[in-house]
Amino acid sequence: MNLQLLHVGHCFHPEAIITRGGAWKAQQFPAIVGLFRHPRLGYVLFDTGYAKRFLQATQPFPQRFYRWLTPMHLCDKQQLQTQLKDQGIASEDIRHIFISHFHADHIAGLLDFPHATYICSRSGLQSMRQRTGISALIKGYLKNLMPVDFEHRVRFIETSPEYQLPVDMAPFSKAYDIFNDGSFLAIELPGHAFGHFGLLTAIGGESVFLIGDACWTEKTLITASRPHPLANLVLSDTHQYYDTIDKLAQLYGYNQSIRIVPSHCMSSYERFCAHHH
Ligand SMILES: [Zn+2]
Repeated sequence: MNLQLLHVGHCFHPEAIITRGGAWKAQQFPAIVGLFRHPRLGYVLFDTGYAKRFLQATQPFPQRFYRWLTPMHLCDKQQLQTQLKDQGIASEDIRHIFISHFHADHIAGLLDFPHATYICSRSGLQSMRQRTGISALIKGYLKNLMPVDFEHRVRFIETSPEYQLPVDMAPFSKAYDIFNDGSFLAIELPGHAFGHFGLLTAIGGESVFLIGDACWTEKTLITASRPHPLANLVLSDTHQYYDTIDKLAQLYGYNQSIRIVPSHCMSSYERFCAHHH
């Protein structure tokens, strides 16, 4: 199996929110998308990053606050569809999209792939659907980004067979085997958002663990640092979030051979690209 990481827009945010002691000056955080090529299933996406429709969805109030809080930048050539087209991949060629969680910067591109099956957490979808108005907005949901036929095209992670992870993934032990061939192992990383999952895969002999927003940058893996308390507003569960960070930091400490990639970490992205090109 093959994996490319694509940089699909970025947002600006003070580092101090993400790590205590960080600078308050706004910093650039990429939205990273995983493009897998599976020998039997074809193309599989991990999230979609930003899309231009994020701007329309955040035009009215109160959704406008979302854009003020995390201003988005997406140039034309960075659009996911454009990057795929440049490689000769059409929208219809994307057969599966794995959704780590339902925050707007991960699902803004779903509407561009009308032929894909969505793979997501059942509890993640339910929590998003239950929230409306301000409560949805505070948790980072923009419902206009959701395809109307989503429920007809979804397959839930929780219905996949359970998979016992090898000891070198400790303290993580349980995963879901999405395609029943061991190629895509979904691991719950709770706390950032409801039903938040990462994806463990083997790429050319290397274990690659895409962890979504379980932490924002790799610095957190080294220091197990906590975000600013302001970030707690958005999190689904602060204690679970801290627990997930500690587990990832442990895994990182025990086993440097697993490549852990947070969705918004520029240096992880750059190192992966340098290694896999
Ligand atoms: Zn998120």
